[in-house]
Amino acid sequence: MKLFSVFAAVLFSTSAISSVFIEESFWIKNPTGDVFELLKNRPELTIDHVKANGFELYGPKGLEQFLKQNKIAYGLLGTVSIEAKGGYPSPEQIEKELKTIAEKYPQLTKLYTIGKSIKKRDLWVMKLSKNAKTEDKRPEFKYVANMHGDEIVGREMMMKFIKDCTDNYGKDPEITNLLDKFQIHILVSMNPDGAAAGTRANANWVDLNRDFPDFSTSDNQDTPANRAPETQAVMKWQAEHKFRLSANFHGGAEVVNYPWDTIADKFPEEELIKDLSLEYAHKAPYIGASTAFENGITNGYAWYEVNGGMQDWSIYYKKDFQVTIELSNTKWPEYSKIDYYYEQNRPALIQLVQRLETLR
Ligand SMILES: [Zn+2]
Repeated sequence: MKLFSVFAAVLFSTSAISSVFIEESFWIKNPTGDVFELLKNRPELTIDHVKANGFELYGPKGLEQFLKQNKIAYGLLGTVSIEAKGGYPSPEQIEKELKTIAEKYPQLTKLYTIGKSIKKRDLWVMKLSKNAKTEDKRPEFKYVANMHGDEIVGREMMMKFIKDCTDNYGKDPEITNLLDKFQIHILVSMNPDGAAAGTRANANWVDLNRDFPDFSTSDNQDTPANRAPETQAVMKWQAEHKFRLSANFHGGAEVVNYPWDTIADKFPEEELIKDLSLEYAHKAPYIGASTAFENGITNGYAWYEVNGGMQDWSIYYKKDFQVTIELSNTKWPEYSKIDYYYEQNRPALIQLVQRLETLR
């Protein structure tokens, strides 16, 4: 391991790093346990979507050289190609669509921005509720999608959910009930710059789902300092509301992931959070039928450790129950597949909001 220690001094030169920078992305092929341990213990690197035949690995410039020197087999991940983007709206088109819906349904919607991305794109939240512009005491729920820019299914699914809820209020009893009883806030894209570029990270190479305060590390102060503007915006937004339940959408696997991500300890309310997760997976049949995960759910830490993730932050610091939902094995599928994902998830999306009632 001599090469490793020489290289480590060059690549990983700072000791206290709060953000994980993603400038190089790889698929690690058929790793041995030693390779996994070596990579997992570098705070500068991010491992994601561990599968039977490998996992994704992200890190700063120099990572490829490091893999070569350590004779670790890898493939390139790269960004989403222009061809693959075909049919998908741009962040600007998403914004326009949200404004159109908000104008058409002024009683049922409140469209507001919680801040700006690095490239000064607004981070739009659509609130759905009867008399949406009045903040009242009805329970508050939130959905967050697309914090990884190249995981696009959640954003599109949320756009469909918003249209479904507004078009079918007063027609579909389940939707009507939902908007009568609850205040639902939807951040359709936490990372519009990443979505525009087809990259996981934000425009400063920060992995937003490794950028939150983490109770298990030295970065355990619940303060916005030294975090990405997108992360700061979510932290401020959370402080302004009483969210009790939320979900966070990703792509690259098909599973409902429940806390903790950060530590091996049993989550204090594991029965409840497991029940919510099982219900979601059951009501989204393709997730429940997973062959990779029993019943389509997993404990986060048991799958792979995540530090600085939004889920654990949300629960630990804000008492807002959150699950991480991996929607599609393909992060950026053909646009025509979005209808399938929406139809499959629709009953689960409605039921999860309903569960607010059981948490009061
Ligand atoms: Zn993700």
